Amino acid sequence: MNVLVLNSGSSSIKFSLFKMPEEQEISLGLIEKIGEENALVTLRVSSNETKHTQLVSDHSAGLKIIADFLADKVLINQELSAIGHRVVHGGEAYSDTQLITDEVLRKIDELAVLAPLHNPPNAEGIRVSQQIFPQANQVAIFDTAFHSTIPPYTYRYPVPNRLYQEHGIRVYGMHGTSHQYVTQQAASFLGKPLDSVNLITIHLGNGCSMTAVKNGKSTDTSMGLSPLAGLMMGTRSGDIDPAIPFFLSEQAEMSPAEIDHLLNHESGLKGITGENDLREVLRKQEQEDKPAKLALEMYCYRIKKYVGAYLAVLGSADALVFTAGVGENSPFVREKSLEGLEALGIQLDSSKNNQSVSGIQELQAEDSKIKILVVPTNEELAIAQQTFQLLSEEK
Ligand code: ADP
Repeated sequence: MNVLVLNSGSSSIKFSLFKMPEEQEISLGLIEKIGEENALVTLRVSSNETKHTQLVSDHSAGLKIIADFLADKVLINQELSAIGHRVVHGGEAYSDTQLITDEVLRKIDELAVLAPLHNPPNAEGIRVSQQIFPQANQVAIFDTAFHSTIPPYTYRYPVPNRLYQEHGIRVYGMHGTSHQYVTQQAASFLGKPLDSVNLITIHLGNGCSMTAVKNGKSTDTSMGLSPLAGLMMGTRSGDIDPAIPFFLSEQAEMSPAEIDHLLNHESGLKGITGENDLREVLRKQEQEDKPAKLALEMYCYRIKKYVGAYLAVLGSADALVFTAGVGENSPFVREKSLEGLEALGIQLDSSKNNQSVSGIQELQAEDSKIKILVVPTNEELAIAQQTFQLLSEEK
């Protein structure tokens, strides 16, 4: 079965085509700057990649380009039978993968209140995909679903009940597809049944989040109602005193929209150094740039605080699992985040940490009680797997 994975953002569509159950990625690509005259179209089949710019007026035009490319170069007379859509927010309604019906799509629209930047383009991607591929089963994979096992004493905020009852204000958590995927990979690498593995999963990409995984299930996570909470990120602040927005509103006369922009797009690494890409911040640090040094100290300190907190939550952990762009590729961040944790049973082997090896790596020193793993994430494959699994069960 060919499974197309679609991730529709506000101005982009990312796709991957997998042959399942072989898990073979046949084709992938990306359309960026949708809505602009010079949209950037990148299409790849095997190792042949083409890039060009053209007018792509909307998501429908973008998906048509992808559909034509797949029909011409990849599928050639084969039908596409399944599409897995990444959907950021499933609210309390969805704790697992769903076959998309009118009702599911209506609910995704409704949940835009909780994810105003993400759910509308996700829903738009589903609608155009239903028009362009009417024969295919369309499946939604929710980024919040893995965190549906978090208990109420963790997901509720200590604010009046009506905020939860009337507005759904609670912790939902994000990056669930990645945390779930690396949890499964780590359990199988460690040779433990999924339902008995305790992990702290550390997803460090442009967005960053950590999850305490107890018996294979998410029991706490650092993002909250929105992806703004928790760790310091590329452009997002992560945890700050909740009084800061009131202060900014009163003292700096900023509007809610301006504060939202400030905390989501001008903060994090960017706020301290002017750069949101960690590689640039590391480069600046090498040139003795003080803000870069401070930003890296802050970034790693916050990871360390969550490691301590989640170790307390779990009681014991089999492994810490680093993943995503920074987690997989930055020995500096891994080392600095874990320094001084020997008394907690966490000790990195510096030379293993500095080796660059592909696939799952084990980085702990011999004396470390807790293992330290790098597990490459693959959200596209995880979506293809979940889509394939749901459709196999439906048969
Ligand atoms: P996204 O959240 O967009 O999926 P990624 O998982 O691709 O992001 O991670 C992007 C981040 O990973 C960027 O901050 C980038 O600087 C960082 N990164 C990528 N490669 C390296 C590297 N070799 N060393 C340090 N950081 C890296």
